[in-house]
Amino acid sequence: MTSSRPEILFPLFADLTVLDGVGPKSALNFVNMQVERPRDLLFTLPHGCIDRRLRTSIKGLTFPNIVTVEVEVGAHQKPASRGRPYRIMVRDAEMDFQLVFFHAREDWLRRNLPTGERRLVSGKIEVFDGVAQMVHPDHILRPDEHADLPAFEPVYPLTAGISQKLMFKAAHSALSRAVELPEWVDQNLKAERNWPDWRNALEQAHAPLGPQDTSPSTAVRERLAYDELFAHQVTLAIARASVRRSKGLETHGDSSLQEKVLNSLPFSPTRAQTRSISEIHADMAKPVRMNRLLQGDVGSGKTLVALMAMLAAVEAGGQAAMMAPTEILARQHLAGLMPLAAAAGIRLELLTGRDKGAERAEKLAALANGEISIMVGTHALFQKDVEFQSLRLAVIDEQHRFGVQQRMELGSKGRAVDILVMTATPIPRSLALAHYGDMDISVLDEKPPGRKPIETVMVSAGRLDQVVDRLRAAIAEGRQAYWVCPLVEGSELVEMTAAEDRFKHLRAVLGEGVVGLVHGQLKPSEKDKAMEEFIAGRTKVLVATTVIEVGVDVPTATIIVIEQAEHFGLAQLHQLRGRVGRGDEASTCLLLYSGKLGETALARLSIMRETNDGFRIAEEDLRLRGAGDLLGVAQSGLPRFRVADLEEQADLMKIAQDDARMFLQSDPTLSSERGQAVRTLLYLMEQDKAIRLLSVG
Ligand code: ADP
Ligand code: MG
Repeated sequence: MTSSRPEILFPLFADLTVLDGVGPKSALNFVNMQVERPRDLLFTLPHGCIDRRLRTSIKGLTFPNIVTVEVEVGAHQKPASRGRPYRIMVRDAEMDFQLVFFHAREDWLRRNLPTGERRLVSGKIEVFDGVAQMVHPDHILRPDEHADLPAFEPVYPLTAGISQKLMFKAAHSALSRAVELPEWVDQNLKAERNWPDWRNALEQAHAPLGPQDTSPSTAVRERLAYDELFAHQVTLAIARASVRRSKGLETHGDSSLQEKVLNSLPFSPTRAQTRSISEIHADMAKPVRMNRLLQGDVGSGKTLVALMAMLAAVEAGGQAAMMAPTEILARQHLAGLMPLAAAAGIRLELLTGRDKGAERAEKLAALANGEISIMVGTHALFQKDVEFQSLRLAVIDEQHRFGVQQRMELGSKGRAVDILVMTATPIPRSLALAHYGDMDISVLDEKPPGRKPIETVMVSAGRLDQVVDRLRAAIAEGRQAYWVCPLVEGSELVEMTAAEDRFKHLRAVLGEGVVGLVHGQLKPSEKDKAMEEFIAGRTKVLVATTVIEVGVDVPTATIIVIEQAEHFGLAQLHQLRGRVGRGDEASTCLLLYSGKLGETALARLSIMRETNDGFRIAEEDLRLRGAGDLLGVAQSGLPRFRVADLEEQADLMKIAQDDARMFLQSDPTLSSERGQAVRTLLYLMEQDKAIRLLSVG
């Protein structure tokens, strides 16, 4: 059984300099395009191709045009003065034209284009002053070398110091090192989609016969993309299986507590909520550990879903914990859940870093003896002395602020605890699959009825004074506003300075005591204090960096101003905008932009104006920016694919996930014939770390 890189792959993982035309210097240049091994070149595909088919003559063509013809070389015409070009008269089967060279070396030209001989020339023909000419032909060959020129020459992505010719040579040299590998793709799928074998697919992908062959929808490209996606999904499926191998508790709630809560609500759950709740309950009832993501836009009602899950744990005689990334958010969850817990008649408490002394000791004792059914809290829930009597479910709010590590730590507070992660980041499905492929996903894709849409307007920063006037009027009406300062990627210090400047400015024009300030450089206690002042309504305008992005709920805040909105990701703007529109009153979002907006920037901000639908925004953002950017570099952790295009080939990701999960179920140790092939794929795709997680490595 293969537990290290199979020998069959060695030639593809050799040093790049083994390839034709690649020396130490060009190898260094290749690194700039993430090409370090022959395998990397296999998966660097041409994005176009040039028709180099031989014609008999240029006669009758429209110009400019790229042409390949055989010519008889005529007279050389040396330049009359410096700066003028060197010309060589040539004649094809029917017409005369000129080859033109600037800064030419005569001896080289005489050697390669000797008068009286025949040559193939290929390049762009243009007409100047009525004379057809080819300036600096791309290719000059003897007629007997014709076979060296492909009929369609692929056009590769390049980087400084790497020419098309070198790229072509190196890619083909890499191809010659690739031998056919055992098939890892499911035979039915392969037949159904008409996919070629791996080796054959590579061969064709590097030899497009027209622009149609470089589209992501060809069978060849699909197959190669699928290989990447499938390898990725197998890795996630292995990770998922290794979590699920740990036995879970079967949690069967009897609905008694849930009924009480539902009866106390002035509304009924949306269909999406009901569906998510039953998906979660079904998971909890299984003897394997739940690892589920609840994804829902701001205001979609995740809290109720989480509560129904927690109540099932309590009904089954256990306890539940809900963890939030900050003290403020934990308090908000507490405030929202408290009345519902009262309706259910159970004890729910808050545990944060602020709990000290006797009060804390009492809470811990009540938790350990089971009096407390649900504990809401922050990281404080991790502390060593926190013991649950029987924790069955851990709910984790806002995934991105917690690492997998912390998820595991909370899980370890109880045997085989079920995990439910909640996120408000609406990411397109193909990305969710790439990002959370090890989890099962429930989506709240429907909002409670009767929400007022947030009016969104774009305002030039030149009209800042008018914005301030508008703010002053709103404050007079008793409304509150957030003022979000520019995002400065990678510099919290610069962000802080901008926020402080804006704070001083607004304080000067709106009045002392009316304006508050929060930013990432404040101590947590100072941050909490500023937030509390705003929540209590003592400050009317809260100047902030993006620290307010997540979850903060102040229903009386109905205006949000976002400075230099063009620098934010759409998903982030949507999150920020979600801070308003939480009460009964109509809300407004002002997107300030500076200078003249480019076309894409304009299109992006316009989407914000058109829709409040987080999923649509995320899809559009993906379309306009590409997958890498969408979640922000820091939090994305997204795999980078060389061939697969998450936007154009979104359906393949889902197929890959289903296939990977099903396959792993039938062959959890990758020991069947196909299992061995899949191992080879994982090594090929440099996903071999996953192999160590296999139950039998
Ligand atoms: P999220 O956490 O997903 O942003 P919340 O759970 O905080 O959303 O819910 C937002 C608001 O919507 C809360 O005031 C909640 O009481 C209310 N809500 C939740 N579900 C419904 C529903 N089905 N119908 C009406 N209002 C609802
Ligand atoms: Mg919430």
